[in-house]
Amino acid sequence: MRFRMLVLLIVVSLPVTAVSAQNAEAPVNVLIVTGSADLPYHVWQETTASMRGILESSGHFSTSVLEHPEELDTASLKGFDIVVLNYNGPRWPGKSEEALVTFIRNGGGFFAFHHASYGTFFGQEFRENRWQQGPPGSGWEAFPIIIGASWLPENLGHARRCVFEVDWIDGTHPATSGLPKSFKANDELYHKLDLSPGVLVLATAMSPADLGGTGKREPMVWVNQFGKGRVFYTVLGHDTLAWEQPGMASLLTRGLEWAARGSD
Ligand SMILES: [Zn+2]
Repeated sequence: MRFRMLVLLIVVSLPVTAVSAQNAEAPVNVLIVTGSADLPYHVWQETTASMRGILESSGHFSTSVLEHPEELDTASLKGFDIVVLNYNGPRWPGKSEEALVTFIRNGGGFFAFHHASYGTFFGQEFRENRWQQGPPGSGWEAFPIIIGASWLPENLGHARRCVFEVDWIDGTHPATSGLPKSFKANDELYHKLDLSPGVLVLATAMSPADLGGTGKREPMVWVNQFGKGRVFYTVLGHDTLAWEQPGMASLLTRGLEWAARGSD
């Protein structure tokens, strides 16, 4: 009984200690919207668990998960500072898509990554074993504007998975100041995305031509503004191994902190 009491005390006191030691502010309230990805490539259950682990152990974040995006509406977004999208799947009902657009436009933070770079939100459909452009008007018009990027189906691709260096090219941004100049990724290095003119690229990596890449530097991380909302986007984050790289923890926590609060 005594032992059980002790365990209970430790469990109860841990989050308070972690928060007060690092940041006296209230934790950032994060809603991870997930529940679908293009299996077998992207296992949303595993990456969601990895990301939650990073965020909760930092002591700065409180996370909730919504596995049914079709339930998303204005009421379910209440109280959250930022939405994290871990998703590639069917489009959502109009009320859910509109609720997210309004949330960001009114100043909510937004973080999305990797497999959010293509698919139905861009009007693409999976036919004959590859993504192709679907009928005109089938995409979510606001989505590429929010993330500041799109990807032509014929350009979808990446160098063979490898370990590579990601360089922070803007060390003055609140999301990157004080970070080491580069970090190691173990990931798919997406290439040939089209970025909107208004985005600010924070990190790039050299795409290795000998592994099927472009032989050019490709944008890895960028930020965008949508209405009053701050958007943080990365093409990284293929799987748990990718998220286990130490530099990815900094990317996630600093990116979310900035997108949710506007400073580091
Ligand atoms: Zn991938």
